[in-house]
Amino acid sequence: MKYSFKCPAPCNYEIKVDAQNDDDAMNKFIAAGKVHAKEAHPNTTPMSEQKMKDMFKAGMKKG
Ligand SMILES: [Zn+2]
Repeated sequence: MKYSFKCPAPCNYEIKVDAQNDDDAMNKFIAAGKVHAKEAHPNTTPMSEQKMKDMFKAGMKKG
């Protein structure tokens, strides 16, 4: 199943993962999000894993 998450403005980068279920997607989003944040906006304050989970849970879309 495909999942996507749009990084908040002004970034608007779309993170896409292929996952078995929501939990799997969450783990992949966290891993991808860490890499993306490091590459795309290294100057933003790093988010805690719990905060990332909340953000992805609220914003991720299936398909
Ligand atoms: Zn971003």
